[in-house]
Amino acid sequence: MQPRPIMDLDGTNIEGVFFDIDDTFSSEGKITAEAYTALWKLKNAGITMVPITGRPAGWCDHIARMWPVTAIIGENGAFYFMMKGGRMTKHYTADPSRRSEYKERLQSVREEIMRDVPGTDVASDQDYREFELAIDYCEDVTPLPHAAIDSIEGIFQKHGATCKTSSVHVNGWFGDYDKLTTAKIFIEKELGLNPDADNDKFTFAGDSPNDEPMFTFFNNSVGVANVMDFADRIQNMPKYVTKSKSGAGFSELASLILHSK
Ligand SMILES: [Mg+2]
Repeated sequence: MQPRPIMDLDGTNIEGVFFDIDDTFSSEGKITAEAYTALWKLKNAGITMVPITGRPAGWCDHIARMWPVTAIIGENGAFYFMMKGGRMTKHYTADPSRRSEYKERLQSVREEIMRDVPGTDVASDQDYREFELAIDYCEDVTPLPHAAIDSIEGIFQKHGATCKTSSVHVNGWFGDYDKLTTAKIFIEKELGLNPDADNDKFTFAGDSPNDEPMFTFFNNSVGVANVMDFADRIQNMPKYVTKSKSGAGFSELASLILHSK
């Protein structure tokens, strides 16, 4: 189903915004003043703000501490980090006791991808990850065609890993969590709400195939305009789409929510 224009979204009941970072909140690798201001405005309006990203634990530690957010879900749902009473708390969905086993298995995947898919590289933020292997197909390498993404995904799948593709990386992991399963845990444990019954209190903004579980579940899911670039790789598109791309699209969503209050 084609997404409806963002103007059709009723923001009246929205109390929480989950959002992807790369190319949803950021624009061509930078966070604009406009997008960061929109984040502060939503936070100051009492909206629960939670980025959900495939980025590593190292980034998430910083974001949970310093950005105006309630929490952050990282490595495609392996954990969420949040500050409580001025202290960092970490909740893992992935099993930390199996971290070294997962790393060993991902090492074989890594070797096979490097051997069989020319032009790729391990993501430059890999060392700050706890659970995932991230393969760069267009961040610091010369952008590769969608056929290369298929090959990378095929190797992850052959090894029994779950994998999802963002706008910059193909990320793979062992374990049956994703962005959505961890978002649901967060809603229940930290907000005391029911993800199904309270679905309309949330929106999610994203741009890529790894956002698809969120697009499917949330009644108010939003794609920034560049989501249309991935229309051939996403079966369940977001319910709404912004006019502008990336951070400017995020700001459109923020204005709609703030004006409906
Ligand atoms: Mg993205």
